[in-house]
Amino acid sequence: MTITTHRLASIDEIGFSAVLSDLDGVVYRGEEAVPGAVDRFNRWQASGIPYCFVTNNAEKSAPAFAEKIRRLGIACADDQVVTSGDVTLDFARDKYEPGSGLYVIGTDAFKMRVSECGFTLVEKDAAAVLVALDRSFDYAMMKAALRNILDGADLIGTNPDLIRPVADGYEPGAGALTQSIAAASGAHPIFMGKPNPAIIRAALSRMDVRAADVIMIGDKLDTDILAGQRAGVTSIFIETGVPRDTQSIVTPEFILASL
Ligand SMILES: [Mg+2]
Repeated sequence: MTITTHRLASIDEIGFSAVLSDLDGVVYRGEEAVPGAVDRFNRWQASGIPYCFVTNNAEKSAPAFAEKIRRLGIACADDQVVTSGDVTLDFARDKYEPGSGLYVIGTDAFKMRVSECGFTLVEKDAAAVLVALDRSFDYAMMKAALRNILDGADLIGTNPDLIRPVADGYEPGAGALTQSIAAASGAHPIFMGKPNPAIIRAALSRMDVRAADVIMIGDKLDTDILAGQRAGVTSIFIETGVPRDTQSIVTPEFILASL
């Protein structure tokens, strides 16, 4: 299917009944709100347009992200956020028996959620290596991950992002950590965040809407926009985050300078 891209002067030019949105680069950048975002979501809140945030960031729980969004001034209930960590754990619960051992690279918050899901955190003989963003990632972790995989563990990444925008520029994403382990081990990682449409479907299932009536707003073509297209929602690339010319060739339906 050939997609023709249209540039919108305003998001009001198109019709929709619900909104899915990325966070980093769309709603905020670091601790700062992206200009226009707070006002726009509040207008949707006032006019009864439901919205849900879908983020590949698994550093924090969905309720912790909801709190950050509320702090910026946007109304957001805890269940209006789905993270790549949520869909990764849904997937793991489907695939592995309760109590299975997992080798987890990620924040303490993410490891706690893995435990709360009934899995055991182990250093060896893991059924799977789960990789989320971990700024303390080092050679010893890479080695433990490699050895688990050579002993038969699956390699599962919360998200494939190689780069992510932060307040003062960019930093390596969880996908870069996962790919370093993939390079060493030869394993083919399973990635659960965008562009896997599982996270979009999880959000849609919480909202009583048809995919065709929903827009997905994101600043990354190869994750946000591709996931939206795979799930059958209308994709809108927004130019407030990662520059388009640094990204792979996925064609968005619409481009918008800002909210
Ligand atoms: Mg983003």
